[in-house]
Amino acid sequence: MYADIIVDISQDKLDKTFQYHIPSELEDKVSVGTRVLAPFGKGNRLISGYVIDIKEESSFDKDRIKDIQSVDSNSFPAIERMIKLAFWMKHEFGSTMNQALKTVLPVKDKVKAVSRKRIVLKADEDSLNQIIEKNVKSNAVARVRLLQALKDENTIDYEIVKTKLNISSQTVKSLENSGIIEVLEDNIYRNPVSSRHGEADYRFELNPSQKSAVDTFIRDYDEGKRKTYLLYGVTGSGKTLCYMDMIEHVISQGKQVIMLIPEIALTFQTVQRFYRRFGDSVSILNSRMSKGERYDQFCRAINGDISIIIGPRSALFTPFLNLGLIVIDEEHEGSYKSERSPRYHARETAVHIAETMNASVVLGSATPSVESFYRASKGEYTLLKLSERAAGASLPAVYTVDLREELKSGNRSIFSRKLRSLMEDRLSKRQQVMLFLNKRGYAGFISCRSCGHVFKCPHCDISLTYHRDGRLVCHYCGYEETAPKVCPKCGSKYVSGFRAGTQQIEEMINREFPSAEVLRMDMDTTSGKEGHEKILSRFANHEADILVGTQMIVKGHDFPDVTLVGVLAADMSLYGSDYRAAERTFQLLVQASGRAGRAEKSGEVVIQSYTPEHYSIVAAAANDYEGFYEEEISYRKLLGYPPVNNMLQVMFSSDDRQRLEETCNDIKIWCTGSWTGNSISVAGPVPAQVYKVKDVYSQILCVRSADYKSLTEFKDSVEMYIRSKDMYSNILVQYDFN
Ligand code: ADP
Ligand code: ZN
Ligand code: ZN
Repeated sequence: MYADIIVDISQDKLDKTFQYHIPSELEDKVSVGTRVLAPFGKGNRLISGYVIDIKEESSFDKDRIKDIQSVDSNSFPAIERMIKLAFWMKHEFGSTMNQALKTVLPVKDKVKAVSRKRIVLKADEDSLNQIIEKNVKSNAVARVRLLQALKDENTIDYEIVKTKLNISSQTVKSLENSGIIEVLEDNIYRNPVSSRHGEADYRFELNPSQKSAVDTFIRDYDEGKRKTYLLYGVTGSGKTLCYMDMIEHVISQGKQVIMLIPEIALTFQTVQRFYRRFGDSVSILNSRMSKGERYDQFCRAINGDISIIIGPRSALFTPFLNLGLIVIDEEHEGSYKSERSPRYHARETAVHIAETMNASVVLGSATPSVESFYRASKGEYTLLKLSERAAGASLPAVYTVDLREELKSGNRSIFSRKLRSLMEDRLSKRQQVMLFLNKRGYAGFISCRSCGHVFKCPHCDISLTYHRDGRLVCHYCGYEETAPKVCPKCGSKYVSGFRAGTQQIEEMINREFPSAEVLRMDMDTTSGKEGHEKILSRFANHEADILVGTQMIVKGHDFPDVTLVGVLAADMSLYGSDYRAAERTFQLLVQASGRAGRAEKSGEVVIQSYTPEHYSIVAAAANDYEGFYEEEISYRKLLGYPPVNNMLQVMFSSDDRQRLEETCNDIKIWCTGSWTGNSISVAGPVPAQVYKVKDVYSQILCVRSADYKSLTEFKDSVEMYIRSKDMYSNILVQYDFN
């Protein structure tokens, strides 16, 4: 038997493996995923590598193949399953093995442990008293101070001894030499969370619908049934409390839990609730943490020091040994899909991990993804439903305003009359307002209001964003030009962006509501470490009356004083050009509305739109998820979009435009020849939505099939085809499923 081994996963593009012979005494110990030691290079230096494939026949000269030396006993116990997972991800989503391994092994290198020294008393009480007396007589005040302190505490942090007690290391040393004290050094884990003492336990009695959801889960779990559940609960229905009761049940059986939360919602507030309930058995991961901090959380997970990890998408790869449950909160969130190869979705990956580890999955949302609801309706997922808000608060009243009518009646402001009067009302009552806009920059893209001309980047083919100092900037490549005064196409003077940015909204509020304090939250104001946390806590402390922001502000925050939410231009996300645009719009609107009136005070929502008759807006205003779903799924069925069908976009990129086009055409001919009649259809090639980025061109083939497996087979054969021809070596191929 022969093993293909990967020794270095740092190279993205390469899928470089080395083949070794498996000596017969190791045959039953080596399998895919095993970490082994093998001689490498001319000097036969021993290196450690991952077995990623096993073959009965060698493709090389048998005499020159070296033997694997042994199985590497130092490897993390969870690594084997991670390698298998990488394999699955490569196969299911398309990538090189190196890219997949990098994804599942986010922490590869050991990071030096942090240690802390402390001083421990060794003498018993009587002898201690004698020693103190002696030292008092000889006037050794420092010694006396330390020994007195130890008399009360028994063990004291070395840092405190040095700083607070002001005792030199020589004094400590001499006491240690005489055997009265001992200096111990503990490895401590970097703990990412601080200041969580003195808070009450987060625990409530479940209301009847919460109880029924939790009971269903627990009953199944105790009967050994492992399923995927969809917890569909309106905003404020108390999904968090349900997760907690489920988690508590699972960890009481010695199992571990991964809880995924979108990074943006991973706030102090959310995490705090979990700490208050589960204390030190909980930890978090986030992208702002240092390598060392992450490494320590993984160690704590492997060593069983923690049972719950909370984090974004990548927390799925926490190496728990006895995983019992994966929870995905806000499962509809776009950030659960990776933008890099392998472009995996956390949901499918979680379901797969759960299968391999005999765990359950709970997906939660107020606006489930169309995929998940479709699966629940087909019985693939078990639906759990929470229909009312938990704390008794009612859902807010929602008004839609037609902006075309506002214009007709002469109101050219971004605030409709309805929104303005409600804002004035709230400000006079000292209640808070959130205004929501999903566009970055000063004025979004600008266009000609007479002829519709839109200004685009000559390199990237995307619209330029207007910046305050009069420049038009490309947010992909940084290209910029001065904003023109007249339209280059029709000469009209009406070139502007009616689609204002958050910064402009902030200025308008300052102008129109001069007494109101305004906070703004978008990509520009939250770039620093913990930037958005700071803004949110200032808003929570009522340091401002109005919070203006992008989609960031609609995620899972609880502000009891917010009684008005304004969606300034609901249509914005409808202008996106993929099949999820309506779904995304509906979700954003409902989530935004959910921010109004979370506590005793009831709330109101104003949705402004140029197309208020669109079904996603109508359904969102009525908070009618199921109504939206029915419309949406029939549209997807009609047009053959996911989840009814499956779709694969294969993107070919190169800086050589001609070579790229030849390749795509050749591949198109090849697939029409060998793939038609195989239950798939191939369209394209078409230029990618953004055709040219930093002078790299991209073309896309769009492949559809009723059956996901046909698409992964298609992907594999494209890969083989590309590899078989030298002329394709400079073409980068990426896959994006559904
Ligand atoms: P969701 O995540 O479903 O939007 P949350 O979990 O944030 O909702 O809960 C909304 C509010 O209701 C929170 O303030 C929470 O503390 C409160 N809450 C939830 N369940 C209960 C309950 N059974 N009794 C009292 N308060 C509850
Ligand atoms: Zn024009
Ligand atoms: Zn550009």
